[in-house]
Amino acid sequence: MNDASNSLKKEIIQYARLLEGKGLVNSLEGNLSILDRTAGELYITPSGTRKTFLTEDMIAVMKDGSQIGGTLKRSSEYLLHEAALRARPDCNAVVHAHAPYLTAYAYCNKSIAIRCSTTFGLIFGDIPCLPYGEPGTTHIADGIEDAMKEHELVLLANHGCVCVGKTMENAVSILEAAEEVLKIYMMAKTVGEISDIPTEQWEQLGNNHPGRKQTGHK
Ligand SMILES: [Zn+2]
Repeated sequence: MNDASNSLKKEIIQYARLLEGKGLVNSLEGNLSILDRTAGELYITPSGTRKTFLTEDMIAVMKDGSQIGGTLKRSSEYLLHEAALRARPDCNAVVHAHAPYLTAYAYCNKSIAIRCSTTFGLIFGDIPCLPYGEPGTTHIADGIEDAMKEHELVLLANHGCVCVGKTMENAVSILEAAEEVLKIYMMAKTVGEISDIPTEQWEQLGNNHPGRKQTGHK
């Protein structure tokens, strides 16, 4: 194993553990990948394995649709990762998760367009929900290429979410920020009536803010 390959595997494991520690992925739900665009190799977490116990030899390596490395079978959701990475040549990392607050919207087949959070406005604007696609089949990725051209994070109806980033740090940061905003949004609903940012200010939001669309895509 060369150094580059080893460091990509280490990076996946580090972030997979971090996300499992936060309850955003678990043994049976969620997967992470990084694409080495030069070698045309996708590194992805294996199927049905507790992320905390992952070791480098377990990370699956995919090339041209076949698994060429790793002691365990690649996640069945690799098609989703490949579709997301095709849509976003500016991104190299994908996280697919069933993060609870985001997935609650996915279970209701609802896109997210809240107007009460500056973080949400600055990073997302909105988060679309794609129609249901059966896991493990090519349908899981239906519509994802179009949606991801405009969004770093999208919901998959009755399933979860998928997000992309230039780096794994970017992708994970986006997922964490969305989940945190929605958690607070649900809490706010119990506190009182939610106050939206007025339309004019909403549209101006971030014009001079360095955090605007952190991947620079929108
Ligand atoms: Zn899933």
